[in-house]
Amino acid sequence: MILGQPIWKFIVDFYIIWVLVFFLFKFLINNKRIFSVVLSVLVIYIAYYLIGIADILASSSILGYIVGWLPIIIIIIMAPDLRRSLEIIWKQEKVRDDFEMGSERTKQHIVDAVMVLASQQIGALITVEKHNTLDQYAERAIMMNSEVSKELLINIFIPNTPLHDGAVIIRGDQILCAGAYFVLSDNQNYDKTMGSRHRAGLGISEITDSLTILVSEETGNISVAIEGILLKMNDRDKLLEYLNMFMK
Ligand code: ATP
Ligand code: MG
Repeated sequence: MILGQPIWKFIVDFYIIWVLVFFLFKFLINNKRIFSVVLSVLVIYIAYYLIGIADILASSSILGYIVGWLPIIIIIIMAPDLRRSLEIIWKQEKVRDDFEMGSERTKQHIVDAVMVLASQQIGALITVEKHNTLDQYAERAIMMNSEVSKELLINIFIPNTPLHDGAVIIRGDQILCAGAYFVLSDNQNYDKTMGSRHRAGLGISEITDSLTILVSEETGNISVAIEGILLKMNDRDKLLEYLNMFMK
């Protein structure tokens, strides 16, 4: 007997608590905002408890009211963050079974297009899908299902044309869609002035195993977002090297 229950019950009990604590920590570590909300909630609960003990009437009833509504308030405030953290935890679940990466030709066309876009300072956002499906983003975008070509990619991003805003998603040798919108990253380690195009690329790289190529319209710089980090690509060779590693 441990803690008044048979050993097997104690082990099951311990295991369940361990799993819960593990996921809770994973959750908190993935999101600083959730962490600060959890801290605030703790403070409110401790204050409520202390005031209860001290029997201070008015504060106790006001705090009691807040504590009662707290779960609902938290769910409403944290909905986007909760969704995001769950997406990170379950990212391995959303796997494509018909998975196939693009050919050598596709790779060359992507790199060629990116070099032209960068030289002309045309903003671009190209996401190459891997195991994790990007269907949920493509569904809300403009479907294309066209063979990847340098010319088409350049054309999509020409400013003030219907397809130029948002991201192009590439699946295998096809341009799946254009005008896709991703959830922006709120990674605090990057400059606060980083714009929405780069935050979108970073965002999708945090929640899926995709690779995103970004061309800045402000500077013409090329970057790659992968696994939640943004890497500056100095030249064509480096970009090709990354695509080669990724599209194996
Ligand atoms: P740049 O260096 O090219 O200026 P930036 O990172 O500073 O890029 P913005 O200047 O804010 O970003 O770029 C705006 C463009 O980013 C929009 O016109 C749109 O095409 C794209 N964009 C904005 N939000 C998203 C999103 N959530 N998902 C995909 N694309 C987005
Ligand atoms: Mg900008």
